[in-house]
Amino acid sequence: MKISDACNHKKSLSFEIFPPKKDSELKNIDATLDVLCELQPDFISVTFGAGGSLNCNRTIELAKKIKQNYHVEPVVHLTCLHYNRAEIDEFARILTAEGIQNVLALRGDRNPDLTEKDDFKHASDLISYLKPKGDFCFLGACYPECHPESANKIEEIRHLKEKVNAGAEVLLSQLFFDNTQFYRFVEDCRIADINVPIVPGIMPVINAAQIKRMITMCGASFPERFQKIIHKFEDNKAALFDAGMSYALSQIIDLLANDTDGIHLYTMNNPVVARRICEGIQHII
Ligand code: FAD
Repeated sequence: MKISDACNHKKSLSFEIFPPKKDSELKNIDATLDVLCELQPDFISVTFGAGGSLNCNRTIELAKKIKQNYHVEPVVHLTCLHYNRAEIDEFARILTAEGIQNVLALRGDRNPDLTEKDDFKHASDLISYLKPKGDFCFLGACYPECHPESANKIEEIRHLKEKVNAGAEVLLSQLFFDNTQFYRFVEDCRIADINVPIVPGIMPVINAAQIKRMITMCGASFPERFQKIIHKFEDNKAALFDAGMSYALSQIIDLLANDTDGIHLYTMNNPVVARRICEGIQHII
């Protein structure tokens, strides 16, 4: 099933997970999937570690498992900056052979340890290249507070429009903690005639290590209300979990009350987080 069908007709609920790095963690992922799939999301997206070998990729293994064992639609993330056309062709061949139709087409982050190849400069190049090669549904990433490499919001929206024109049928957003940033962004997109579903990405912040990573990496702004919660509870694991979950839940309820196109939850492979959020919105979504 193509994700665009689900997202165009209802508010979608989806989860993001990442493939385990070690064989020993494979058992845990089964337990995680048992819970996530029981929550009946519209899809589960599986992240992709750039720079590895494409044809023995754990992302595909996990996506296959989600589809075959749990009958939930997977979305495979695919980055392109470090691959050439032949490598992407092989990946597309495997996806088609496995019956996986939904691809979150990404450029990938720059990494000084990996060689950038010349064939694909932007996610839109990947979509344009793959579109004639199979019956895929493409999703794209978007950034309510601008991608760190963007010169300004106008450039950002212009390139996003190019990505949609190339064939991205659904946009999944970078995480954010201030809903007003997301509302402004969606308004700008609609003015620019970007009319595909734009699904907000929410990550419940539940531990101190996550907060530090977030501050250095994601570029999201931290509203005062959120900062206060972090400062107050960062040394108390259980309290931070409760506070982080409540903050995420209040963000999600506000987003749904404002008629967003759905909710994409960055689960960090934590089934407790996903279950708690779903319980909190069971009569809302
Ligand atoms: P693009 O859409 O190519 O945009 C990147 C930058 O280039 C932007 O500043 C854009 O404005 C600019 N740009 C685009 N087109 C042009 C053009 N024609 N000319 C000039 N500038 C242009 N990374 C992973 O490695 N693995 C993952 O699984 C993964 N999953 C993600 C999931 C989501 C929902 C999100 C939001 C991000 C994810 N990322 C992942 C991170 C992503 O790879 C990085 O943010 C990367 O830096 C940009 O990828 P993109 O597809 O958004 O790039």
